[in-house]
Amino acid sequence: MTGLFDLTGRVALVTGSSRGIGSALARALAEAGAKVVLNGVNGERLKAAEDALAQEFPPGRIHSVAFDVTDDHAAARSILWVEENVGPLEILVNNAGIQHRVPMLDLDVADWERVLSTDLTSAFLVGREAARHMIGRGRGKIINICSVQTDLARPTIAPYIAAKGGLRNLTRAMTAEWAASGLQINAVAPGYIHTEMTQNLVDDEDFNSWILGRTPAHRWGTVEDLAGPVVWLASDGSNFVNGQTIFIDGGMTVVV
Ligand code: NAP
Repeated sequence: MTGLFDLTGRVALVTGSSRGIGSALARALAEAGAKVVLNGVNGERLKAAEDALAQEFPPGRIHSVAFDVTDDHAAARSILWVEENVGPLEILVNNAGIQHRVPMLDLDVADWERVLSTDLTSAFLVGREAARHMIGRGRGKIINICSVQTDLARPTIAPYIAAKGGLRNLTRAMTAEWAASGLQINAVAPGYIHTEMTQNLVDDEDFNSWILGRTPAHRWGTVEDLAGPVVWLASDGSNFVNGQTIFIDGGMTVVV
């Protein structure tokens, strides 16, 4: 049974994996046997993340490629580099993302576009490039990282909500066009996960107690909570799961 979830030898690219959730997902995929390529924009931080993770695995299992996921030419060059230097790309996790908190009446269009391009357009650009290679081989897994904000709005994060809602439907659009070529495209939607991105919220007493009260599991999620579902969606164990968004949120989106 465990063979179903074995990723031995498969090449996985996790965007935005120099820290936070992406870094934990990269480790989980490597633990399941994959050869993992890390990504980020900041080359120094990325190299440090690669060196640290590489110490946990045999040589040749951890790689990195720095590029900006909003740049289609850089994405194309980088995926070609992965194909030629690491191996055929079988798993793509579109994880890179940013947040920008400001009331909508004060929101600049430049900030709106920056969030939309990093959190939504990037998944189209990197996903399309990966699919161009995967489709010819008749197999591939794309996992888009959504959020509870895919379904639930709150004030001051309009572009993030719009992007994450769009990402769920992009997952469906990719499925409509590529599933017949043997690709499975799905999304996971994490609840509130304690990372650098959310540290300021964890430190805010009022917000923290609101989260605990609003979450049936009565806790923040951890990056480890996301590992099992992502490994499953990257593996043969999910070969007939297409276009779904799996909420990993301690039950937040099923209660009022
Ligand atoms: P994080 O700790 O801030 O890390 C963000 C990562 O994305 C970094 O590795 C960063 O690289 C990379 N990145 C940002 N812009 C990029 C770009 N243009 N090109 C390439 N890489 C870029 O974020 P996180 O909390 O782990 O969140 C990761 C994903 O999970 C995001 O999509 C987020 O929306 C989603 N999510 C997070 C939570 C949560 O509670 N934390 C909940 C639900 C969903 P550099 O180091 O080079 O900047």
